[in-house]
Amino acid sequence: MLRNIEHKKSEYTATRNACKLCSPLGASLAYKGIKACVPIIHGSQGCATYIRRYLISHYREPFDIASSSFSEEAAVFGGQKNLNIAISNIIEQYKPEIIGICTTCLSETIGEDLNMIISDYKAKHASEDLPEIVHSSTPSYQGTHADGFHETVKSLVAGLAKKTEPVDRINLFSGFVSPADLRHLKEIMADFSLNFSMIPDYSESVDNPNWSEYKRIPDGGTPVSEVIESANAYASVELGYVFNKGYKAGRIKNKSQEVQTAGEYLESKFNVINHQTGLPIGIKETDKFFDILEKLSGNPMPGKYEKERGRLIDAYVDGHKIMFGKKAIIYGEEDLVIGLSKFLAETGIDVVLAVTGGNSGKIKPILANSNQNGQEPMTIGDDMDFEDLADIAKDLGANIMIGNSKGYYIARELKIPLVRVGFPVHDRFGAQRIHHLSYRGTQELFDRIANALMEYKQENSAVGYKYL
Ligand code: SF4
Repeated sequence: MLRNIEHKKSEYTATRNACKLCSPLGASLAYKGIKACVPIIHGSQGCATYIRRYLISHYREPFDIASSSFSEEAAVFGGQKNLNIAISNIIEQYKPEIIGICTTCLSETIGEDLNMIISDYKAKHASEDLPEIVHSSTPSYQGTHADGFHETVKSLVAGLAKKTEPVDRINLFSGFVSPADLRHLKEIMADFSLNFSMIPDYSESVDNPNWSEYKRIPDGGTPVSEVIESANAYASVELGYVFNKGYKAGRIKNKSQEVQTAGEYLESKFNVINHQTGLPIGIKETDKFFDILEKLSGNPMPGKYEKERGRLIDAYVDGHKIMFGKKAIIYGEEDLVIGLSKFLAETGIDVVLAVTGGNSGKIKPILANSNQNGQEPMTIGDDMDFEDLADIAKDLGANIMIGNSKGYYIARELKIPLVRVGFPVHDRFGAQRIHHLSYRGTQELFDRIANALMEYKQENSAVGYKYL
């Protein structure tokens, strides 16, 4: 059951506390998942500083991200000179295997031609052993951090993939998930005896063990050779329903102009069969993911996952009296909101408000068909900010919020618990180790939500029960 609320957007001309982050942030994270890659943000220092600060505070790891450092002169006459200097400096100081350039609002607005600038740079340095140089177009006024992430993954394969000899490998495009999720996905693939290449893989590069000496380029990441060979894989698995589909939405006039995902690009150009399924959160969505892996590997689900699935069902049964009939507000990236909504529908919790800053137009039809409990109508808001969320939330009587730390002040105002998931989490420790995916990740989410509800009940009880 869906409810559409026409909220007071028209009273405001500006976004107030966006329920999304900027596109080059997502692009930078994707580039960090490629081995020995240094990202350059083509724009002003401020963009790079904000992005570095957000990433460092969430992952608690150093983030070397360069900037072409636009000044007034570059904004008027173009930033080619600055970008050339940035590329040369990075090659000299970092010796990267690949440089990933993403654009900002400013460089896109003045119409920087990155193809031309990079070709020109390569021509001028033809005698040198240059690293790979790729770029993605990521103005924030056309998309969210999730769009920038997926656009960059697509740009990486579009820029590097080459058809040569077939490889006995699948490509896994995991989406914007936590390093802990990436590590778990790798464990699952290994347990199915599947050869795979995860693109990108920032499971180590943004969550490294302690170093005795600072490393300019952290360990980990997908080797460039594997991105090149992605065209020779026999299949791809992509996790998500929305991806970068909303990207450049304003320019899309019909479906044929819709932006392709990385997996769709490889399928259309190199016949690499693409299997798309949503983020595996909850039992049904995880079952779909495991079904795909069973088909691709020819192996049944390993016993340990059967047990994890069984324990999760047992937890659903045990926790039903805590969860059933509770009302939740969820928010974040479109694919995360879809995954959370499908999972919560399995638990007896009613999602009364699902909010995203994305604007793909896909979330409403997808959630309209999801299996809601039907006790409470669900309001779905896309392209929304936190002030819109706060306005609507006031009257919903929600028991819990589930989303990133940017919504904390609303939970505080409503005096309800916030279970922190997704990105960013700036007011708790260990955000990079939060599991969201598969039966195991769902189990952790379920336990955290149940405990948050129990703790709330305990703390607000006049009696102070220690047995709930
Ligand atoms: S100007 Fe655009 S790219 Fe730069 S920080 Fe702001 S939203 Fe992001």
